[in-house]
Amino acid sequence: MAEPAKEPIKASEIDSQFKYEISKMHGGEKLLRCFQCGTCTSDCPVARFSETYRPRKIIRMAQLGLKERVLNSDTLWLCAACFTCTDRCPQDVEVASVIRVLRNLAAEKGIVPLVFKEQASSILESGYAYRIPELRLKKREALGLPPLPKGNPENICKSLRGVSFLKFTEEKG
Ligand code: SF4
Ligand code: SF4
Repeated sequence: MAEPAKEPIKASEIDSQFKYEISKMHGGEKLLRCFQCGTCTSDCPVARFSETYRPRKIIRMAQLGLKERVLNSDTLWLCAACFTCTDRCPQDVEVASVIRVLRNLAAEKGIVPLVFKEQASSILESGYAYRIPELRLKKREALGLPPLPKGNPENICKSLRGVSFLKFTEEKG
């Protein structure tokens, strides 16, 4: 996935309906209220440590209809969903929710960073968000610690079937 290009915007890449598409989705309703004050970016704990992650910019790209750029942006996945931006926005834009909406749209197109795909398959296989290294388990045993509680992937799979998640992952591989 490419970083949003710093190339000039071409009229042909603008999807004028995109902002309305987002505005109809839960959490995206107030997208058009953003007047680009930058409060979300200045208060974002992730933006503080990143040279590229700027929630204000993501919101602007969505408003402008730069659908492909924003959905293919790696930075979309850096949001920690802390909701600071949403709490601080003077226009009541639900910034964190707009980012979730954009991620969902990207995921529907199969655009998901490998690290999250691996995390999802680990949850489906073991119930844990990441694969616990064998060495760690042996170390626990050597230290006399009890085994880790077993995950419940079967129930997780049942829940995810209810929201069509498994169908999606099976289709997208
Ligand atoms: S804080 Fe709100 S109004 Fe200001 S740039 Fe961010 S989303 Fe837009
Ligand atoms: S929810 Fe995401 S964009 Fe908003 S402040 Fe937290 S990390 Fe930044």
